[in-house]
Amino acid sequence: MAKRDYYEVLGVSRDVDPKTLKSAYRKLARELHPDRNPDPAAEDAFKEATEAYQVLSDPEKRSTYDRFGHAGVEGQGFIDPADIFGGLQDMLGDFFGGFRRRRPDAPSRGANVRTAIELELFEALHGVTREIELRHAQPCDSCEGTGADGGAFDSCQRCNGMGRLAVRRGAFVVQVDCPDCDGQGRTPKSPCGACEGSGQTISDRKVQVEIPGGVDHGDTLRVQGEGQSGIRGGPPGHLLVDLRVHPHPQFTRNGDDLVHPLHLSFPQAALGARVAVPGLRESDDGYELIVPPGIQPGETLIIEGEGAPRRRGRGRGDVVCVVQVDVPRDLSPRAKELIEELAQSFGG
Ligand SMILES: [Zn+2]
Ligand SMILES: [Zn+2]
Repeated sequence: MAKRDYYEVLGVSRDVDPKTLKSAYRKLARELHPDRNPDPAAEDAFKEATEAYQVLSDPEKRSTYDRFGHAGVEGQGFIDPADIFGGLQDMLGDFFGGFRRRRPDAPSRGANVRTAIELELFEALHGVTREIELRHAQPCDSCEGTGADGGAFDSCQRCNGMGRLAVRRGAFVVQVDCPDCDGQGRTPKSPCGACEGSGQTISDRKVQVEIPGGVDHGDTLRVQGEGQSGIRGGPPGHLLVDLRVHPHPQFTRNGDDLVHPLHLSFPQAALGARVAVPGLRESDDGYELIVPPGIQPGETLIIEGEGAPRRRGRGRGDVVCVVQVDVPRDLSPRAKELIEELAQSFGG
């Protein structure tokens, strides 16, 4: 299989500066790290990104790579496992710090919990409070999420307590989690009875979520501190709520405005009319609009300040009524006569 270009792997330009390079790698690592992302494909992508970063973050290797491509840096055994342990671990430590992998006894923040809420358009525009039922894994209280009875461990024999093993993959030596201890570097003396050694229990609870007016489909709301509880006194994670807004049959959101197709008959468009525009909910009164004579298809009538709360600034957007002139399909004989008469008066 052809190897992907290292710059492409990290999603950076060829003249990227070290700082941008580092942050691009961190972002990917955060997304793809096997601790965070259970998808097996993510692990390969993580290794690919790490390899790319190993090369591009070293000025000498980078310049060799720039001149000769993969061939220039391959098969030279340039990745020293000590490098990975030192450099990479130090760097990852910044954002995986507090993870029990690295410092087993440090407090760690609880993981975020993600859920979704479905909203009607009215609720999205005006806000609503919802009680939602959450069911998620939670670090076990009795063993503080370690899975070990009484928190008692033995050092892992296979990896000598390092948690990582060096494995050869083609030309590279990469570090993988030790399968015996799952990267922990230690194994429980005996499994925790409360969670059967898994370190996790299931939490069922209800949370009130206040959804502010003006949210839109695809927004994510963060409810502070409603995620998994922290371990050893660490702070809890957050609850992330993805918002999904049902399509409305009469109104379509366009930024701060709501767009409404205003269907008029030819006489209404030609002569002008008073027409009703429905409200967002069936129980709402709606609006009355004065249509001026001679309005054309595609012209708009604005109902000011009845749209969504403005994302920037105060007040609300508008309801924008877009005129559509409906042509009748089935005509009574009388109507047909009249239209023919009308056509004659137009000179056709
Ligand atoms: Zn081990
Ligand atoms: Zn337990």
